[in-house]
Amino acid sequence: MIERNLNRIRSSIREIALRCGRNPDDIRLVAVSKRFPVEAVREARDAGQIIFGENYLQEAVVKRKAMHDAIQLHFIGNLQSNKAKLCADTCDVIETVDRLKIAAALSRHCQQRARALSILVQVNIGLDDNKSGVLPDQAETLLTAIKEMKQLRLMGLMTMPPYTDDPEDARPYFRDLRLLAETMKEKGLLGNHGTVELSMGMSHDYHIAIEEGATLIRIGTAIFGQRPSANTP
Ligand SMILES: *Cc1c(COP(=O)(O)O)cnc(C)c1O
Repeated sequence: MIERNLNRIRSSIREIALRCGRNPDDIRLVAVSKRFPVEAVREARDAGQIIFGENYLQEAVVKRKAMHDAIQLHFIGNLQSNKAKLCADTCDVIETVDRLKIAAALSRHCQQRARALSILVQVNIGLDDNKSGVLPDQAETLLTAIKEMKQLRLMGLMTMPPYTDDPEDARPYFRDLRLLAETMKEKGLLGNHGTVELSMGMSHDYHIAIEEGATLIRIGTAIFGQRPSANTP
């Protein structure tokens, strides 16, 4: 089932990209495997999926230990600064850097390790009380500070718009993230490590996100099915 879902989503990404005049290769799929076991990750990997997204650090650790370098892990959950080290050692990309304290902790750790770390800054583009992310009007300050942290390679911006049933409602938020990224690029705060990544769009709204410029889409349910609830052992 996972392989069939992946194939369906891949062709859907292609179709949407071509329809809006984009190169399908500019859009990468992050398979969000949170709360699914290693077997699900392995099945997806066997079907050619390389990038996986995890929200919980302990799960990321388990999947890294099982899969080693056969997968790339993107951390997409809330990160506490006391877990920054473990997260940097476990994941290839941290998409959810949203405050100076986290950035500084990651930077210090990478300095000690003498290595670079790819990150994205999460933006609370919808000014949603229930979402993490730097507020759009604080983004410039955060990005300016990150630019001085030589170990951190800022690849782009990530967002999760307020949830609604109609995916069209997300379009203005996706557009706002792209516009914010363009402004930050003009100021020299983004785009210094290759093309600017925009991580936006999930199972129910990725088609809109691709139309609005997403380069990373994070899809869980449409690949793995309904997630086991957090309370199940
Ligand atoms: C769970 C999650 C996703 C995937 O959501 P689906 O609706 O299952 O596709 C994407 N991004 C983040 C940050 C998530 O927490």
